[in-house]
Amino acid sequence: MSVRVVARIRPLLDKELDKDTIVRAENGPDGKLNIVRIPNPKKEEEEFSFTFNGVYDMETTQEELFTNEVAPHIKSLFAGLDVMIFAYGVTGTGKTHTMRGGMKLFDRGIIPRMLSNIYRRGKKVSKDSGGETTVNVTMSYYEIYNDKVYDLFEPPEQRSLAGLPLRENAGKTVVVGLSERACNDLKDFEALYIEANNNRSTAGTKLNAQSSRSHAILMVKVTQTNGDEQLISTASAIDLAGSEDNRRTDNNKERLVESASINKSLFVLSSCIDAIGRGDKRIPYRESKMTRILSLGQNNGITIMILNLAPLRSYHLDTLSSLNVSSRAKRIEVREIENEVVFTQPPRKTAPLTGQSIQRQPLR
Ligand code: ADP
Ligand code: MG
Repeated sequence: MSVRVVARIRPLLDKELDKDTIVRAENGPDGKLNIVRIPNPKKEEEEFSFTFNGVYDMETTQEELFTNEVAPHIKSLFAGLDVMIFAYGVTGTGKTHTMRGGMKLFDRGIIPRMLSNIYRRGKKVSKDSGGETTVNVTMSYYEIYNDKVYDLFEPPEQRSLAGLPLRENAGKTVVVGLSERACNDLKDFEALYIEANNNRSTAGTKLNAQSSRSHAILMVKVTQTNGDEQLISTASAIDLAGSEDNRRTDNNKERLVESASINKSLFVLSSCIDAIGRGDKRIPYRESKMTRILSLGQNNGITIMILNLAPLRSYHLDTLSSLNVSSRAKRIEVREIENEVVFTQPPRKTAPLTGQSIQRQPLR
C-alpha cells in the first residue's frame, strides 16, 4: 500500500474574508473530490493541478476528516499495525488545528478523537475476550527542535541541550531514553498532553505569532496482553514545523538557526520523497532526525500525510511548493506488515501466533 496523501483546505478566518483566494478543490473523473487547482504564479491564465488520494474543502468538519481518514485504521492498529499520521504545510494553514484542534467538542482534532477511539476499541477487545486480554495505553511526546530531540515531559530548563539520541532497533527508529507515561483513559491523556504541550519550544515569527518552530511527535503505544502473549503497536501523530520559505521571515540570530534546521529537515524530507519516487538505492533518511523518525517507505503499517493549505493568494509560492512535495509522496510504498506477538515468558508448546496469523485469528 502507498502512503495516503490527502489535502485539506482551511476556511478563511474572519479577518481574511475580503482576501483573494486562489486554491480550488475539484472532482476527479470518478466524481470524488481529489484535485487541487492553483494558478501559475508566473502566468496567471495558466493553472496547475495536483491529484491526491482525497481532498477536503473549506466546509470539511473535524469529524468528517477523522471519520474518513483515521477511524478506519483503529481496527488495524489493534491487529498489530503501526499507524502514522502527519500534517505538512506552511505555518498558518491548519496543521495544529487538524492534529490537535480546539477545546470545544466539535472542534477537537485528530489526536483527541483518535485516543477516544483507541480507548473505546480497547474496552471492546477486552470484553470480547471475556476479560482475558488486557489493553494498556501509554504515550510519549517529543519535539525535534534544531535537529535535536527533546522529551516534552521534561520542562525546557531541565533539558540536556544535546537532546536524546536515536537508534535503529529491528527496523524502527527509536528515541533512546524517552519517557513513557501511562494514560488509562481520555482524561489522563488530556492532562498529560496539555502538560507536555506547555513544554514546547515556541517563539513568535513574522508569519504567525503562535507558530511552532519544531516538529512535534506524539506516539501512543497500545499493548495487548493475554497470558504470556503480548502484541504491541503504535499510533503516531506528527505536527511538522512550517514548510514556508524561511528566507522571508524576519529573522534574528536565534530565528536563523531555527530556520536553517527547519529548512534543512524539510528539504531532506522532499529529497527522500524524490529519491523514493525515482527508485534510488540510497535514500537520504539519515541526513535529518525528522526523516529518520518518519522513515517514509521503510516503516511498516499505515502512513497518512495530510497537506494543509490556506486558500489565500498571499501564500501562493509556498502553497505551490508544498503541493509539489506532497503530491510526489503518493508514490511511496509502505509494507503492510503487522507487528509480531511476543512472549513475555518462554513460548508454550503450541505454535506461536505470528503477526500474519493475527488477522485471521485475533488475539483472544
Ligand atoms: P498551523 O499549525 O499550520 O500553523 P493553525 O492550525 O494554527 O496553523 O491554524 C491557523 C489558524 O487558522 C488558527 O487560528 C486556526 O484556528 C485556524 N484554522 C485552521 N484550520 C481551520 C479549520 N479547518 N476551520 C476553522 N479554523 C481553522
Ligand atoms: Mg501549528
